[in-house]
Amino acid sequence: MSKQKERKLKRIRKQRVWTKVLGIVMTIAVFFVLAVVILLIFAISVVFNKVQQGYNDSSEAVQIIEEEWDIENQDSLNKICENILKNDSSIKDICIVDSDDKIVYQYGEETPNFEWNIEALGNGNTKFIMTDDEESFIYTDNNLEAGLRIEEVLRKIASNNNEESDNNFLESKKLTMINFWYEIPLSDENYSVCIKNELPVRQMEIIFVEVVMEIMLLFAMILIIYYLSSLLGLVLERRKHVIMMTTDIVTGGNNLQYFVKEGNKLLKKNKRGKYNYAVVAIRMEKYRNFCSCYGVKEGEELLEGFSLALKENLYKKEILAHAEKADFALLLVYETEEELVARIKKMISKMDSVKAGQKKYFSAGIYKVQNSCDGIDSMYNYAGVAINVINEDSEERIVWFNDEMQSEQLWIRKVENDMEKALINKEFQVYLQPKYSTKAEVLSGAEALVRWIHPIEGFVPPYRFIPIFESNGFVMQLDDYMLTEVARQQAKWIAEGKKTVPISVNISRVHFIKEDLAEHICQIVDEFNVPHDLIELELTESAFFDDKGVLLNTINKLKSYGFAISMDDFGSGYSSLNSLRELPLDVVKLDAGFFRDSDESGRGKLIVGDTISLAKKLDMKIVAEGIETRDQVDFLATMDCDLIQGYYFAKPMPISEFEEKAFG
Ligand code: C2E
Ligand code: MG
Ligand code: MG
Repeated sequence: MSKQKERKLKRIRKQRVWTKVLGIVMTIAVFFVLAVVILLIFAISVVFNKVQQGYNDSSEAVQIIEEEWDIENQDSLNKICENILKNDSSIKDICIVDSDDKIVYQYGEETPNFEWNIEALGNGNTKFIMTDDEESFIYTDNNLEAGLRIEEVLRKIASNNNEESDNNFLESKKLTMINFWYEIPLSDENYSVCIKNELPVRQMEIIFVEVVMEIMLLFAMILIIYYLSSLLGLVLERRKHVIMMTTDIVTGGNNLQYFVKEGNKLLKKNKRGKYNYAVVAIRMEKYRNFCSCYGVKEGEELLEGFSLALKENLYKKEILAHAEKADFALLLVYETEEELVARIKKMISKMDSVKAGQKKYFSAGIYKVQNSCDGIDSMYNYAGVAINVINEDSEERIVWFNDEMQSEQLWIRKVENDMEKALINKEFQVYLQPKYSTKAEVLSGAEALVRWIHPIEGFVPPYRFIPIFESNGFVMQLDDYMLTEVARQQAKWIAEGKKTVPISVNISRVHFIKEDLAEHICQIVDEFNVPHDLIELELTESAFFDDKGVLLNTINKLKSYGFAISMDDFGSGYSSLNSLRELPLDVVKLDAGFFRDSDESGRGKLIVGDTISLAKKLDMKIVAEGIETRDQVDFLATMDCDLIQGYYFAKPMPISEFEEKAFG
């Protein structure tokens, strides 16, 4: 799956879960805030009324005392108090205190505890005094309407009440009967009257709040259940989605995505190395041939059979997936290497028995898991790298990913890391290998060959990096760079009045995906005003296997712009004579392979001779590559070969050296 697709899916998944979770959190928060607000409103309105009512009653009682009191006459005071208590059942105890809060008269059992004086709660002459045992307090403010501190007093009461919260306090029965001490000064400023008032909070008021709270709770529960059920739905939907995403459409088993996800999980769990794990890639070779022979449906049934056969041979904590085409990925536990190889052989023979009678070939690559940091996808890649070294005729079809392959992989990574920087820093250098005319043996051309002068690795030959650049596409940038440098050099020599020769530049087959390649090349060369016949373009024969239409179109355009086109390494692979017939090439470069091995039978010479005469008839020039001996030069001279490129005359060399050879 592409990274972009994965990111999109992740975002969708995340978003939806978050909305649900946020819904639940918000519901709880809103209901909590509402509950607190309702309780506070209730507490303030109910208790405030009670306090005011108590104050009114107490003021009336104080008025009666004021009218008739005599501090010396305790009996008359007792009578007054007795009457007051009789007429007002909410009043429980009365006492008179002097200006130092010292009790000078007491009627009833209790007196206020002045140690609990919480003056800070009052403003101006407001003053509450709470007793410690019954959560009562005295209020001494005439300006009750202000009622500013009721809330805080309630809090104090609650905190005094065994650290219970306000809500719990209100719910507790204690609030159904609240005791207040009111301290009201007498006109004789030396004395004040303290009256304890017991104020009942009606049960109905509490029941009302309870009902409101319960209704709110019910709503909250319904909303939470709604969110939870949709969350559950989402999780189930996601599971379904995951199953769909990780199911292989061909075999019905797991796909590579599942393998990566579950495999990484298993390896993470095995961090301490309790089990020996190996990532194994098993491939049925020539699956495409099988399909062309028996049909795609039969091919798919075969893969399904393979998947079942492999699955039957899996143990616990092992996984399997169909990766692509006829490739299967396995994560296996093993005791010894021999045992693992024997097991893979057994698995392969089970696979072979699916649709028995049809010949199948299998290869397997094994990567020994040593460090789970790599990620199982890279490990599977490594197992694939091991498979790729098995060639068609190899006897041994099960190969371990080894140190050599490992260092090759590290090299690939290094090259890929360094390549962009190398281009900017001009670490790639143009070497030129002269081409000599066969008969006159004069320098008549050259081929530009790249060399990487790496700051750490030193001199790096092309075979170490060109294939990597070809597989990652960077070769296009490199070819452009080489073409630019060659054009720049030609322009410089022309400006200096040197008698310059055509220089060929290699153009990778990868470059042919560019539809406007011809225009692109033309633009680079024209920037330096170099005549097109001084630049030749070499295409490797592998390019001729790609889209013939595009290739023909590009070659025709390049030719019309005046560039010469040559087929490089002719005869090295599966060159088809058709290419010579179909493509209007200017030059054929005979591959060095024709001259490398001894040719006792003389067949090689025969082929070279006939290829040269065929090319001549087709009006093409012939260049022989890799020529190292005098004999070879003499033979090519008799065969009428046009040019020779090889160590016999000169190796690829830096431009300064070439200048000496060509113009010196
Ligand atoms: P090629 O284009 O076929 O280049 C000829 C190769 O043969 C060069 O190897 C050259 O050094 C080597 N050679 C020439 N004469 C002799 C000889 O007498 N004996 C032996 N043993 N070898 C000889 P080199 O420079 O290592 O390049 C290898 C290949 O890398 C090139 O093969 C070409 O395919 C690729 N290459 C080099 N430079 C570039 C480039 O700038 N762009 C692209 N796309 N490919 C490049
Ligand atoms: Mg070449
Ligand atoms: Mg070549």
